Amino acid sequence: MHIDCHTHSRFSPDADPAAGITSMAERADRLGLDFITLTDHCDCCYWLPKGEGSYEEYQKEDSMMFGCRDYARASISEALSLKARHKNLLCGVELGEPLENTAAADEILGIDGLDFVIGSLHMNPGKPDFYFLQYDKMAGSEVAALLDDYFAQLLKLCEWGGFDSLAHLTYPLRYIEGECGVGVDLARYDDTVTQIFKTLIESGKALELNTSGYRQKYGKSFPDERFLKMYRSLGGELVTIGSDAHKVADIGAGIKQGEELLRECGFKYITLFKERKASPFIIG
Ligand SMILES: [Zn+2]
Ligand SMILES: [Zn+2]
Repeated sequence: MHIDCHTHSRFSPDADPAAGITSMAERADRLGLDFITLTDHCDCCYWLPKGEGSYEEYQKEDSMMFGCRDYARASISEALSLKARHKNLLCGVELGEPLENTAAADEILGIDGLDFVIGSLHMNPGKPDFYFLQYDKMAGSEVAALLDDYFAQLLKLCEWGGFDSLAHLTYPLRYIEGECGVGVDLARYDDTVTQIFKTLIESGKALELNTSGYRQKYGKSFPDERFLKMYRSLGGELVTIGSDAHKVADIGAGIKQGEELLRECGFKYITLFKERKASPFIIG
């Protein structure tokens, strides 16, 4: 069985506006994927009361200024209605920064029919998305401090635990190392990452292997092999896998490479979430 459990449609502001959910499910079928889970963004720190930001406004330039409530709801409701027609389609959400607006997170988590919730962090509290920062113009200590905060926030997210799988651990490296070419010694964060893994394991949450880095300048998965092996050695068994596709052509990208890496790191199973319940199956 092969699955892709992290994908974005036109209902995500940074995704291809031509990425309709039907065409994504059809693409997954053609690729021979057994399941594709739609996980459009709901960055809770960009949540605004209904009516203050329409979907059309959201798609314009500087769209990140607008709230996510309407499009997250639109994504989920369209996916739920299409599930009857596409047996390989599951309905999820990428819940970003939930601790910055727990009422927003609770509202999304209260929607009936969700199969899967990814917990993610794209920015530190009160700061821009890691995507927007110029790391090659920062002092090394500044970059280290940003990452200290990032991993500390991730630990808080895991302690909260209102999700099924922790998304793209080490996401800032996509930009710090990948785009800006600034090297990072991740060993500095091993103690916090150990606590993150122990918290996930004790609460029955999964860790995501995000394969988007394979097709980006970073060139590795999020997280990389060393952290995957650390998670495994601590007793971690639940791993979900996703391409983080933001266009139809990227669905399934890197999944086979990711499965191979998981085998090398000692994992036997990949986990699929349906109706928010984990079912593991043997890799490959
Ligand atoms: Zn993300
Ligand atoms: Zn994503």
